[in-house]
Amino acid sequence: MLFQVLFILCLVNSVYSSNYTNNFTNTNNLQVHIFDVGQAMSQLWVYPDGYSVFVDGPEHNWNKDEVAGKLAKKIYNILNTKHINVGIISHLHLDHLGMAGYGGIWALIEKYGFTFDKIIDRNSGYWNDLNKNCSEDNIKFNNIGTYSSTAIKWICYATDPNSKIYKIRENPKLCSDNQIKEVKIFNRFNSKENKNVNKNEDNNNKNDDNLDNYKDNRQDINHDNKKGLKYFEGTLYDYNKNKQINNQINNQNNYNNKGFSKNFNKNSLISKITIVSADAYGVKMPDGRYVQGDHHNEEYPPSENDYSIGLILQYGDFSFATFGDLDGEYAKSPYDYYYDDIESSVIKNLVEVDAYNVNHHGSSHSSNINFLQKLNPSVSFISCGKGNSYGHPGQDTLDRLKKVNTQIYITEDCDNSKNYYDSIITNNDIVITVSEDTKTYNVCFNNNCKTYKSKGYKELNCKV
Ligand SMILES: [Zn+2]
Repeated sequence: MLFQVLFILCLVNSVYSSNYTNNFTNTNNLQVHIFDVGQAMSQLWVYPDGYSVFVDGPEHNWNKDEVAGKLAKKIYNILNTKHINVGIISHLHLDHLGMAGYGGIWALIEKYGFTFDKIIDRNSGYWNDLNKNCSEDNIKFNNIGTYSSTAIKWICYATDPNSKIYKIRENPKLCSDNQIKEVKIFNRFNSKENKNVNKNEDNNNKNDDNLDNYKDNRQDINHDNKKGLKYFEGTLYDYNKNKQINNQINNQNNYNNKGFSKNFNKNSLISKITIVSADAYGVKMPDGRYVQGDHHNEEYPPSENDYSIGLILQYGDFSFATFGDLDGEYAKSPYDYYYDDIESSVIKNLVEVDAYNVNHHGSSHSSNINFLQKLNPSVSFISCGKGNSYGHPGQDTLDRLKKVNTQIYITEDCDNSKNYYDSIITNNDIVITVSEDTKTYNVCFNNNCKTYKSKGYKELNCKV
């Protein structure tokens, strides 16, 4: 009976997927979708347990919901639901957010009926006089440089107590590794190889050996639970039987002060997302003042890009980094604002990663060489639009990416006057699928896939 139900579920799933080009949906694997959204940015992360994180919901035109309409269909086809756990807006530009009242994330919620548990957007300010019209005069800014009507409309929407998202909106907590998704530790067990390893290790790991011992472990947990101890939720995988058992594992006493299980060893898998940059926290401008704060009345304010939210996703041996349009140099724009070097300050919070969503669509103001050398990504993804007016990707950025020997993927043939080296132009959405044991990952578009070896788990020390 169970198998019949599963079979029918698979059929239903394939029907929903039929309009969509990817066939990679598989509940045993973490997936990172990098959508081809033209000159814009958007990602969807889907965990094996169905937990979903959506990063940026853009538009190309302020008064349209074209991109949101396409994304709504794609997201539904991937998740098979209109509920997303966490939405993140890297910063308040149209090509990451759309215009509230017309498109983007607003349209996903208000027109296409998507719901979220939580929406995290940067601490830009709030609408402080709800009786008056939405305008910059009626907004109390917290951290702002250049601003556009996109930012103003969004702040009014998100901070209006009558808004659908008012109660679920949060500002990013720098260096938090549980604001987006709680830290989880998955114990791998039951493979012959692991069994042998476990035998040679201390008794802490004996519960991981096999399913029978796992049952004993559950009894222990229940017993301890009566004492009122708190437990971290986890998922146990039986690789041999390809079976997934959800339960609570590892009581809090088993965690050391770094948040890692005392039982952590090579047979454990850590899953966490860390916020490594937000609101340009702690970064100074060349004149010694902080990029944080209210600069909206200044003649040469900082770029909105400076304030981007940066994230590192770690899932066992695999890791992925994305930072919106974060800037990596001090420079003056011809449009009367300044780029500040946020990347160099963020380096201390980074680890080497497998995959990097290239900052600011490959702009030459971002991805400085020190930043790239610290990340040292095996694969890099540039999200940009064909014939874009910004000249993305910048030739010097392509040169720097080449220097760190990363395989570049570009969502579109954005500017073919550039030397792309051996970049791969996908002209379609890209899906990273991490293998069940997280030791490898596939990068796929259309039906082309390339397999890469994961670099392994690295401890990340983020400091505010
Ligand atoms: Zn952008």
